[in-house]
Amino acid sequence: MKLLVIGSGGREHALVWKLAQSPHPSRMWCTPGNAGIATERLARNEAPVDCVSISAEDLPTLLAFAQETKPDLTVVGPDNPLAMGVVDQFRQHGLRIWGPNQQAARFESSKVFSQRFMEAHGIPTAKAGSFTEFTAASRFAASLGGRCAVKADGLALGKGVLICKDMAQADQAIEAILVKKAFGPAGAWVVIQELLEGTELSWHALCDGKSAKLFPTAQDHKRALDGDQGPNTGGMGAYSPTPFLTEAQMDDAKGRILDPWLRGCAAEGIDYRGILYPGLMLTDAGPKVLEFNARFGDPETQVYLPRLENDLVELLDACVTGTLGSLELKWSANVAICVVVASGGYPGSYPKGKAITGLEAVAGWPNTKVFHAGTTLLGEQCVTNGGRVLGVTAWAATLVQARSAAYAAVDQIKFDGAQCRRDIGARALKAAGGG
Ligand code: AMP
Repeated sequence: MKLLVIGSGGREHALVWKLAQSPHPSRMWCTPGNAGIATERLARNEAPVDCVSISAEDLPTLLAFAQETKPDLTVVGPDNPLAMGVVDQFRQHGLRIWGPNQQAARFESSKVFSQRFMEAHGIPTAKAGSFTEFTAASRFAASLGGRCAVKADGLALGKGVLICKDMAQADQAIEAILVKKAFGPAGAWVVIQELLEGTELSWHALCDGKSAKLFPTAQDHKRALDGDQGPNTGGMGAYSPTPFLTEAQMDDAKGRILDPWLRGCAAEGIDYRGILYPGLMLTDAGPKVLEFNARFGDPETQVYLPRLENDLVELLDACVTGTLGSLELKWSANVAICVVVASGGYPGSYPKGKAITGLEAVAGWPNTKVFHAGTTLLGEQCVTNGGRVLGVTAWAATLVQARSAAYAAVDQIKFDGAQCRRDIGARALKAAGGG
């Protein structure tokens, strides 16, 4: 079969790498892809994955490309094309595509919608209100003592959440979003949530419109610097599984979160096919949902897929056909960890075009994989092309082993200004009494 993958980050490299291991695909394209994706080969016939320079947000050109090449399945990586309705457009033209349609993608593209949905269907979340007007928003923030998360309703490149500790910060955040339009039309509404405290976790569940299959837990590291200091980023590293929920607690949380979510979708006529990625806070009062995402997490995908033992093509296909219920997800007992190596200056402005060395040195290492995020080829040379550049991933029987393998690989790879966190997985080691 022929596959098209939309996107260009570390998440898409991990998806392409895993899809390419399946015996099903005989041809694969990635739009636009990156330097690492272009090196992947299909298990079936050694064919290279063709990277085609079409932006993930250029829906008319993507559609024209798919109509010409006729993939049997298109897989959407990032949130923007989902929110723009790529799934609806492909389906209207008879093309099979994996991912939620525009209505279902609102779980990520509208925080007002998500918050209302959670309240309507009894899903545990933060106490919250939605506003279009400064005075009412400020009054609600004051009722929380100014300790709140102020969130732009729409997509804002992961930057639309402002954490406030007092009223001065809350008023400034509300004004930035509602009045100064710091995030443009994404900030026509704000959602204000009480600040939740606890351990943050990522959940992922594959969905086929009727049923959902929950993944093991993963933990991202959002802040730029060690010890969870510095500004928020897209994610500086992840590991899976985490020690923070026992199997019994997972089952309990599933009953409180995923089951009412499924019932709510059925009641509201939402046909969710794709992956649901809720961000959770484990509070003293139990797990609560901070937000929903409508696509795979990045870098969580880089640690999930090396552990997944199923054929990913078959899983994604079952989401589209509605037959996921008959499949069982299988995970290796390994712990996987991903350390993101980013450009100097990220998440602020950063240079591009820095030559990357050391990739060949680690290419043959067992149980290690360097997923590319912001890279491109300048002639023969792999150079940086984004904020998050590489996701250096390793897996082993224990977190300690996986971690030392990942950092050993990180230490081989060099480019001007490269930065990474040195404490990925540290919280799990501490919880286990090991660090
Ligand atoms: P979101 O994009 O909504 O997940 O928010 C980004 C990050 O902000 C989350 O990963 C949390 O670290 C933090 N955050 C969001 N909402 C809250 C909240 N209600 N309480 C505490 N932290 C939050």
